[in-house]
Amino acid sequence: MPNGVTMQPRLYLSSPHMSGGELPLIHEAFAENWIAPLGPHVDAFEAELAAQTAREHCALLSSGTAALHLALILCGVAPGDEVYCASLTFAATANPIAYLGATPVFIDSEATTWNLDPDLLDEALAAAARRGKLPKAVIAVDLYGQPAQLERIVDCCRAHGVPLIEDAAEALGASSAGRPCGSFGDFSILSFNGNKIITTSGGGALLSNDGEAIAKARFLATQARDPAPHYEHSQIGYNYRMSNVCAAIGRAQLRVLGDRVAARRANFDAYRLALGELPGLDFMPQAEGTFSNRWLTCLTLDPTRFGCDREAVRLALGDHNIEARPVWKPMHLQPVFREARMVGGEVSERLFALGLCLPSGSNMSAADRDRVIAIVRRMSPSA
Ligand SMILES: *Cc1c(COP(=O)(O)O)cnc(C)c1O
Repeated sequence: MPNGVTMQPRLYLSSPHMSGGELPLIHEAFAENWIAPLGPHVDAFEAELAAQTAREHCALLSSGTAALHLALILCGVAPGDEVYCASLTFAATANPIAYLGATPVFIDSEATTWNLDPDLLDEALAAAARRGKLPKAVIAVDLYGQPAQLERIVDCCRAHGVPLIEDAAEALGASSAGRPCGSFGDFSILSFNGNKIITTSGGGALLSNDGEAIAKARFLATQARDPAPHYEHSQIGYNYRMSNVCAAIGRAQLRVLGDRVAARRANFDAYRLALGELPGLDFMPQAEGTFSNRWLTCLTLDPTRFGCDREAVRLALGDHNIEARPVWKPMHLQPVFREARMVGGEVSERLFALGLCLPSGSNMSAADRDRVIAIVRRMSPSA
Protein backbone atom coordinates (compact mmCIF):
# COMPACT_ATOMS: atom_id res chain seq x y z
CA MET A 1 0.00 0.00 0.00
CA PRO A 2 1.48 3.41 -0.91
CA ASN A 3 2.01 5.68 2.12
CA GLY A 4 -0.92 7.76 3.25
CA VAL A 5 -3.53 5.83 1.27
CA THR A 6 -6.30 4.25 3.34
CA MET A 7 -7.09 0.68 2.36
CA GLN A 8 -10.35 0.48 0.43
CA PRO A 9 -12.48 -2.67 0.60
CA ARG A 10 -11.32 -5.19 -2.01
CA LEU A 11 -12.71 -4.57 -5.48
CA TYR A 12 -13.33 -7.93 -7.14
CA LEU A 13 -13.27 -8.92 -10.79
CA SER A 14 -16.87 -10.15 -10.62
CA SER A 15 -18.83 -10.71 -7.42
CA PRO A 16 -22.37 -12.01 -6.81
CA HIS A 17 -25.09 -9.36 -7.21
CA MET A 18 -28.39 -10.20 -5.54
CA SER A 19 -31.56 -8.42 -6.63
CA GLY A 20 -33.62 -8.72 -3.44
CA GLY A 21 -36.03 -11.04 -5.20
CA GLU A 22 -34.15 -14.16 -4.12
CA LEU A 23 -35.18 -14.43 -0.45
CA PRO A 24 -38.96 -14.55 -1.04
CA LEU A 25 -38.47 -17.42 -3.48
CA ILE A 26 -36.12 -19.21 -1.08
CA HIS A 27 -38.79 -18.79 1.61
CA GLU A 28 -41.28 -20.42 -0.74
CA ALA A 29 -39.00 -23.43 -1.10
CA PHE A 30 -38.72 -23.65 2.70
CA ALA A 31 -42.47 -23.18 3.27
CA GLU A 32 -43.20 -26.08 0.92
CA ASN A 33 -40.25 -28.12 2.28
CA TRP A 34 -38.81 -28.58 -1.20
CA ILE A 35 -35.25 -28.74 0.12
CA ALA A 36 -34.05 -31.31 -2.40
CA PRO A 37 -32.45 -31.62 -5.83
CA LEU A 38 -35.89 -31.41 -7.40
CA GLY A 39 -39.03 -29.33 -6.91
CA PRO A 40 -41.17 -26.57 -8.41
CA HIS A 41 -38.35 -24.01 -8.64
CA VAL A 42 -36.22 -26.52 -10.54
CA ASP A 43 -39.03 -27.18 -13.02
CA ALA A 44 -39.83 -23.48 -13.44
CA PHE A 45 -36.19 -22.39 -13.79
CA GLU A 46 -35.62 -25.08 -16.43
CA ALA A 47 -38.57 -23.76 -18.46
CA GLU A 48 -37.48 -20.14 -18.03
CA LEU A 49 -33.90 -20.89 -19.15
CA ALA A 50 -35.11 -22.84 -22.16
CA ALA A 51 -37.23 -19.81 -23.15
CA GLN A 52 -34.31 -17.41 -22.54
CA THR A 53 -31.99 -19.43 -24.82
CA ALA A 54 -34.62 -20.41 -27.43
CA ARG A 55 -34.13 -24.09 -26.60
CA GLU A 56 -36.78 -26.76 -26.27
CA HIS A 57 -35.27 -28.55 -23.26
CA CYS A 58 -33.13 -27.79 -20.25
CA ALA A 59 -31.73 -29.88 -17.37
CA LEU A 60 -30.51 -27.96 -14.32
CA LEU A 61 -27.32 -29.38 -12.86
CA SER A 62 -24.90 -28.84 -9.99
CA SER A 63 -22.36 -27.03 -12.19
CA GLY A 64 -21.43 -26.02 -15.71
CA THR A 65 -18.65 -28.59 -15.55
CA ALA A 66 -21.21 -31.33 -14.82
CA ALA A 67 -23.22 -30.11 -17.82
CA LEU A 68 -20.15 -30.41 -20.09
CA HIS A 69 -19.42 -33.88 -18.70
CA LEU A 70 -22.95 -35.08 -19.48
CA ALA A 71 -22.95 -33.39 -22.90
CA LEU A 72 -19.80 -35.32 -23.84
CA ILE A 73 -21.32 -38.59 -22.59
CA LEU A 74 -24.44 -37.91 -24.68
CA CYS A 75 -22.20 -37.33 -27.72
CA GLY A 76 -20.85 -40.85 -27.13
CA VAL A 77 -17.33 -39.75 -26.12
CA ALA A 78 -15.36 -42.72 -24.80
CA PRO A 79 -11.71 -43.60 -24.02
CA GLY A 80 -9.47 -43.13 -27.05
CA ASP A 81 -11.81 -40.68 -28.80
CA GLU A 82 -10.71 -37.17 -29.73
CA VAL A 83 -12.61 -33.99 -28.82
CA TYR A 84 -11.68 -30.68 -30.47
CA CYS A 85 -11.78 -27.77 -28.05
CA ALA A 86 -10.94 -24.06 -27.97
CA SER A 87 -7.55 -23.63 -26.27
CA LEU A 88 -8.20 -20.15 -24.86
CA THR A 89 -10.68 -20.91 -22.08
CA PHE A 90 -11.06 -21.88 -18.44
CA ALA A 91 -9.90 -25.42 -17.58
CA ALA A 92 -13.49 -26.45 -16.79
CA THR A 93 -14.17 -26.54 -20.55
CA ALA A 94 -11.51 -29.18 -21.17
CA ASN A 95 -11.38 -31.21 -17.95
CA PRO A 96 -14.50 -33.32 -18.71
CA ILE A 97 -12.76 -34.60 -21.89
CA ALA A 98 -10.13 -36.08 -19.58
CA TYR A 99 -12.79 -37.45 -17.15
CA LEU A 100 -13.91 -39.69 -20.02
CA GLY A 101 -10.42 -40.87 -20.96
CA ALA A 102 -10.71 -39.06 -24.28
CA THR A 103 -7.98 -36.95 -25.89
CA PRO A 104 -8.38 -33.20 -26.28
CA VAL A 105 -7.10 -31.53 -29.44
CA PHE A 106 -6.84 -27.80 -28.85
CA ILE A 107 -7.55 -25.20 -31.51
CA ASP A 108 -6.33 -21.61 -31.59
CA SER A 109 -8.43 -18.44 -31.40
CA GLU A 110 -9.07 -15.91 -34.13
CA ALA A 111 -8.07 -12.30 -33.40
CA THR A 112 -11.53 -10.89 -34.21
CA THR A 113 -13.51 -12.70 -31.48
CA TRP A 114 -10.72 -14.30 -29.37
CA ASN A 115 -12.74 -17.51 -29.85
CA LEU A 116 -12.29 -20.80 -31.75
CA ASP A 117 -11.00 -19.97 -35.24
CA PRO A 118 -13.53 -21.40 -37.74
CA ASP A 119 -10.92 -21.60 -40.53
CA LEU A 120 -8.57 -23.68 -38.39
CA LEU A 121 -11.49 -25.86 -37.29
CA ASP A 122 -12.54 -26.38 -40.89
CA GLU A 123 -9.00 -27.40 -41.93
CA ALA A 124 -8.56 -29.67 -38.90
CA LEU A 125 -11.88 -31.43 -39.54
CA ALA A 126 -11.12 -31.85 -43.25
CA ALA A 127 -7.71 -33.36 -42.41
CA ALA A 128 -9.29 -35.63 -39.79
CA ALA A 129 -11.89 -36.82 -42.31
CA ARG A 130 -9.09 -37.68 -44.77
CA ARG A 131 -7.30 -39.66 -42.04
CA GLY A 132 -10.60 -41.36 -41.16
CA LYS A 133 -10.51 -40.21 -37.53
CA LEU A 134 -13.03 -37.44 -36.90
CA PRO A 135 -13.45 -36.17 -33.35
CA LYS A 136 -16.50 -37.35 -31.37
CA ALA A 137 -17.40 -33.73 -30.52
CA VAL A 138 -16.30 -30.11 -30.84
CA ILE A 139 -16.50 -27.63 -27.95
CA ALA A 140 -16.69 -23.92 -28.83
CA VAL A 141 -16.63 -21.26 -26.09
CA ASP A 142 -18.17 -17.77 -25.97
CA LEU A 143 -15.28 -16.24 -24.09
CA TYR A 144 -15.95 -13.42 -21.62
CA GLY A 145 -19.48 -13.19 -23.06
CA GLN A 146 -18.33 -12.63 -26.67
CA PRO A 147 -20.08 -15.03 -29.07
CA ALA A 148 -17.81 -17.18 -31.21
CA GLN A 149 -18.57 -17.26 -34.98
CA LEU A 150 -21.23 -19.80 -34.12
CA GLU A 151 -23.05 -19.92 -37.46
CA ARG A 152 -19.81 -20.85 -39.25
CA ILE A 153 -18.79 -23.31 -36.56
CA VAL A 154 -22.22 -25.01 -36.70
CA ASP A 155 -21.84 -25.36 -40.50
CA CYS A 156 -18.30 -26.81 -40.21
CA CYS A 157 -19.41 -29.41 -37.68
CA ARG A 158 -22.56 -30.29 -39.60
CA ALA A 159 -20.58 -30.78 -42.83
CA HIS A 160 -18.60 -33.52 -41.09
CA GLY A 161 -21.44 -34.91 -38.97
CA VAL A 162 -19.61 -34.02 -35.73
CA PRO A 163 -21.75 -32.86 -32.78
CA LEU A 164 -21.10 -29.36 -31.41
CA ILE A 165 -21.26 -28.29 -27.77
CA GLU A 166 -21.51 -24.54 -27.11
CA ASP A 167 -19.88 -23.61 -23.80
CA ALA A 168 -21.94 -20.49 -23.05
CA ALA A 169 -20.96 -20.49 -19.34
CA GLU A 170 -19.89 -16.84 -19.58
CA ALA A 171 -22.35 -15.70 -22.22
CA LEU A 172 -25.92 -15.77 -20.88
CA GLY A 173 -27.66 -12.70 -22.33
CA ALA A 174 -25.30 -12.41 -25.32
CA SER A 175 -26.42 -13.12 -28.88
CA SER A 176 -25.22 -13.59 -32.44
CA ALA A 177 -27.30 -12.30 -35.37
CA GLY A 178 -30.19 -11.99 -32.91
CA ARG A 179 -29.94 -15.61 -31.75
CA PRO A 180 -29.16 -16.07 -28.07
CA CYS A 181 -25.92 -17.68 -26.89
CA GLY A 182 -26.87 -21.06 -25.50
CA SER A 183 -29.02 -21.82 -28.56
CA PHE A 184 -26.23 -23.08 -30.85
CA GLY A 185 -24.98 -26.60 -31.45
CA ASP A 186 -26.43 -29.95 -30.47
CA PHE A 187 -25.90 -29.08 -26.81
CA SER A 188 -25.07 -25.92 -24.93
CA ILE A 189 -24.14 -25.34 -21.32
CA LEU A 190 -24.51 -22.49 -18.85
CA SER A 191 -22.87 -21.84 -15.48
CA PHE A 192 -24.31 -20.13 -12.41
CA ASN A 193 -21.10 -20.10 -10.41
CA GLY A 194 -20.69 -17.14 -8.01
CA ASN A 195 -18.62 -15.09 -10.46
CA LYS A 196 -20.89 -15.47 -13.52
CA ILE A 197 -23.34 -12.83 -14.82
CA ILE A 198 -26.12 -14.41 -12.75
CA THR A 199 -25.55 -16.97 -10.01
CA THR A 200 -27.29 -19.64 -7.95
CA SER A 201 -24.16 -19.75 -5.69
CA GLY A 202 -23.13 -22.72 -7.84
CA GLY A 203 -24.88 -24.57 -10.59
CA GLY A 204 -25.22 -25.16 -14.29
CA ALA A 205 -27.56 -26.13 -17.07
CA LEU A 206 -27.52 -28.41 -20.09
CA LEU A 207 -29.66 -27.26 -23.03
CA SER A 208 -30.75 -28.98 -26.23
CA ASN A 209 -33.63 -29.35 -28.64
CA ASP A 210 -33.32 -33.12 -28.27
CA GLY A 211 -35.81 -34.06 -25.56
CA GLU A 212 -34.64 -37.65 -25.34
CA ALA A 213 -31.06 -36.55 -24.76
CA ILE A 214 -32.10 -34.17 -21.97
CA ALA A 215 -34.20 -36.91 -20.36
CA LYS A 216 -31.12 -39.14 -20.50
CA ALA A 217 -29.06 -36.36 -18.89
CA ARG A 218 -31.54 -36.13 -15.99
CA PHE A 219 -31.38 -39.91 -15.60
CA LEU A 220 -27.56 -39.91 -15.50
CA ALA A 221 -27.57 -36.91 -13.13
CA THR A 222 -29.81 -38.79 -10.66
CA GLN A 223 -27.51 -41.82 -10.15
CA ALA A 224 -28.88 -43.62 -13.26
CA ARG A 225 -31.76 -45.23 -11.38
CA ASP A 226 -33.63 -47.68 -13.60
CA PRO A 227 -37.43 -47.78 -13.18
CA ALA A 228 -37.97 -50.39 -10.43
CA PRO A 229 -39.38 -50.34 -6.87
CA HIS A 230 -35.92 -51.17 -5.49
CA TYR A 231 -32.66 -49.48 -6.56
CA GLU A 232 -31.71 -50.99 -9.90
CA HIS A 233 -28.75 -49.77 -11.97
CA SER A 234 -27.60 -50.88 -15.39
CA GLN A 235 -25.29 -47.86 -15.96
CA ILE A 236 -22.88 -45.72 -13.98
CA GLY A 237 -24.63 -42.55 -12.79
CA TYR A 238 -23.75 -39.23 -11.21
CA ASN A 239 -25.16 -36.99 -8.49
CA TYR A 240 -25.37 -33.86 -10.60
CA ARG A 241 -28.80 -32.26 -10.10
CA MET A 242 -29.40 -28.73 -8.84
CA SER A 243 -31.08 -28.06 -5.49
CA ASN A 244 -34.55 -26.49 -5.48
CA VAL A 245 -33.16 -23.80 -3.12
CA CYS A 246 -30.45 -22.87 -5.64
CA ALA A 247 -33.04 -22.85 -8.44
CA ALA A 248 -35.08 -20.34 -6.37
CA ILE A 249 -32.06 -18.00 -6.35
CA GLY A 250 -31.58 -18.54 -10.09
CA ARG A 251 -35.18 -17.64 -10.95
CA ALA A 252 -34.91 -14.29 -9.18
CA GLN A 253 -31.54 -13.67 -10.83
CA LEU A 254 -32.83 -14.46 -14.31
CA ARG A 255 -35.55 -11.80 -13.90
CA VAL A 256 -32.83 -9.11 -13.71
CA LEU A 257 -30.55 -10.54 -16.41
CA GLY A 258 -31.30 -7.60 -18.73
CA ASP A 259 -30.16 -5.11 -16.04
CA ARG A 260 -27.04 -7.15 -15.35
CA VAL A 261 -26.07 -7.20 -19.04
CA ALA A 262 -26.72 -3.45 -19.31
CA ALA A 263 -24.54 -2.75 -16.24
CA ARG A 264 -21.66 -4.90 -17.55
CA ARG A 265 -21.86 -3.26 -20.95
CA ALA A 266 -21.89 0.17 -19.28
CA ASN A 267 -18.67 -0.78 -17.45
CA PHE A 268 -17.09 -1.68 -20.76
CA ASP A 269 -18.24 1.57 -22.41
CA ALA A 270 -16.94 3.67 -19.50
CA TYR A 271 -13.55 1.94 -19.58
CA ARG A 272 -13.32 2.35 -23.34
CA LEU A 273 -14.24 6.02 -23.20
CA ALA A 274 -11.62 6.73 -20.52
CA LEU A 275 -8.80 4.47 -21.72
CA GLY A 276 -9.44 3.78 -25.39
CA GLU A 277 -7.15 6.56 -26.61
CA LEU A 278 -4.06 5.29 -24.78
CA PRO A 279 -1.43 3.98 -27.22
CA GLY A 280 -0.91 0.23 -27.18
CA LEU A 281 -4.14 -0.43 -25.26
CA ASP A 282 -6.83 -2.33 -27.21
CA PHE A 283 -10.15 -3.61 -25.93
CA MET A 284 -11.54 -7.04 -26.74
CA PRO A 285 -13.29 -6.59 -30.09
CA GLN A 286 -16.97 -7.26 -30.65
CA ALA A 287 -17.52 -8.98 -33.98
CA GLU A 288 -20.05 -7.47 -36.36
CA GLY A 289 -23.59 -8.72 -35.86
CA THR A 290 -22.86 -10.00 -32.36
CA PHE A 291 -23.96 -8.68 -28.98
CA SER A 292 -21.55 -9.43 -26.13
CA ASN A 293 -22.77 -9.40 -22.54
CA ARG A 294 -19.31 -8.01 -21.61
CA TRP A 295 -19.17 -10.37 -18.66
CA LEU A 296 -15.61 -9.14 -18.13
CA THR A 297 -13.99 -6.10 -19.69
CA CYS A 298 -10.77 -7.38 -21.28
CA LEU A 299 -7.99 -5.57 -23.04
CA THR A 300 -4.50 -6.13 -24.37
CA LEU A 301 -1.50 -3.97 -23.50
CA ASP A 302 1.38 -3.81 -25.96
CA PRO A 303 4.25 -2.84 -23.64
CA THR A 304 6.38 -1.18 -26.31
CA ARG A 305 3.63 1.29 -27.14
CA PHE A 306 1.81 1.53 -23.78
CA GLY A 307 4.98 2.05 -21.74
CA CYS A 308 4.72 -0.89 -19.36
CA ASP A 309 3.43 -4.43 -19.49
CA ARG A 310 0.20 -6.10 -18.38
CA GLU A 311 1.81 -7.43 -15.19
CA ALA A 312 2.91 -3.96 -14.08
CA VAL A 313 -0.66 -2.72 -14.43
CA ARG A 314 -2.10 -5.77 -12.67
CA LEU A 315 0.33 -5.33 -9.75
CA ALA A 316 -0.39 -1.59 -9.51
CA LEU A 317 -4.11 -2.35 -9.24
CA GLY A 318 -3.31 -5.04 -6.66
CA ASP A 319 -1.45 -2.44 -4.55
CA HIS A 320 -4.78 -0.61 -4.30
CA ASN A 321 -6.65 -3.79 -3.33
CA ILE A 322 -8.17 -4.10 -6.80
CA GLU A 323 -8.39 -7.54 -8.37
CA ALA A 324 -7.40 -7.81 -12.04
CA ARG A 325 -6.40 -11.01 -13.84
CA PRO A 326 -4.44 -12.05 -16.90
CA VAL A 327 -6.60 -13.41 -19.74
CA TRP A 328 -7.07 -17.22 -19.46
CA LYS A 329 -3.86 -19.17 -19.94
CA PRO A 330 -4.46 -21.33 -23.04
CA MET A 331 -4.99 -25.04 -22.39
CA HIS A 332 -2.12 -26.06 -24.68
CA LEU A 333 0.28 -24.17 -22.38
CA GLN A 334 -1.03 -25.85 -19.22
CA PRO A 335 1.29 -28.46 -17.70
CA VAL A 336 -1.61 -30.90 -17.31
CA PHE A 337 -2.34 -30.83 -21.07
CA ARG A 338 1.26 -30.60 -22.31
CA GLU A 339 0.92 -33.83 -24.33
CA ALA A 340 -2.15 -32.59 -26.22
CA ARG A 341 -2.04 -31.78 -29.92
CA MET A 342 -2.48 -28.07 -30.75
CA VAL A 343 -3.71 -26.56 -34.00
CA GLY A 344 -2.10 -23.12 -34.41
CA GLY A 345 -1.41 -21.24 -31.17
CA GLU A 346 0.02 -17.80 -31.89
CA VAL A 347 -3.19 -15.86 -31.37
CA SER A 348 -4.11 -17.32 -27.99
CA GLU A 349 -0.48 -17.13 -26.81
CA ARG A 350 -0.38 -13.44 -27.65
CA LEU A 351 -3.72 -12.81 -25.89
CA PHE A 352 -2.40 -14.54 -22.78
CA ALA A 353 0.87 -12.59 -22.90
CA LEU A 354 -0.79 -9.19 -23.31
CA GLY A 355 -4.35 -9.63 -21.99
CA LEU A 356 -5.83 -8.24 -18.78
CA CYS A 357 -9.35 -8.46 -17.29
CA LEU A 358 -10.53 -5.45 -15.28
CA PRO A 359 -13.09 -5.41 -12.45
CA SER A 360 -16.43 -5.81 -14.20
CA GLY A 361 -19.13 -6.55 -11.64
CA SER A 362 -22.65 -5.28 -12.27
CA ASN A 363 -22.60 -4.04 -8.65
CA MET A 364 -19.43 -1.97 -9.07
CA SER A 365 -19.92 1.76 -8.40
CA ALA A 366 -18.88 4.46 -10.86
CA ALA A 367 -16.46 5.71 -8.17
CA ASP A 368 -14.79 2.29 -8.00
CA ARG A 369 -14.55 2.17 -11.78
CA ASP A 370 -12.96 5.63 -11.77
CA ARG A 371 -10.32 4.40 -9.30
CA VAL A 372 -9.42 1.60 -11.72
CA ILE A 373 -9.29 4.03 -14.63
CA ALA A 374 -7.05 6.49 -12.76
CA ILE A 375 -4.52 3.77 -11.88
CA VAL A 376 -4.38 2.38 -15.43
CA ARG A 377 -3.94 5.91 -16.87
CA ARG A 378 -1.15 6.64 -14.40
CA MET A 379 0.78 3.62 -15.74
CA SER A 380 0.91 5.04 -19.26
CA PRO A 381 3.61 7.73 -19.71
CA SER A 382 1.57 9.25 -22.56
CA ALA A 383 -1.64 9.71 -20.50
C1 LIG B 1 -17.32 -21.07 -15.30
C2 LIG B 1 -17.01 -21.78 -16.55
C3 LIG B 1 -17.26 -23.16 -16.70
C4 LIG B 1 -17.63 -24.06 -15.57
O1 LIG B 1 -18.74 -23.76 -14.87
P1 LIG B 1 -18.89 -24.23 -13.33
O2 LIG B 1 -20.31 -23.96 -13.05
O3 LIG B 1 -17.95 -23.38 -12.53
O4 LIG B 1 -18.54 -25.67 -13.25
C5 LIG B 1 -17.04 -23.74 -17.94
N1 LIG B 1 -16.59 -23.02 -18.97
C6 LIG B 1 -16.31 -21.72 -18.87
C7 LIG B 1 -15.84 -20.99 -20.08
C8 LIG B 1 -16.49 -21.06 -17.64
O5 LIG B 1 -16.18 -19.76 -17.55
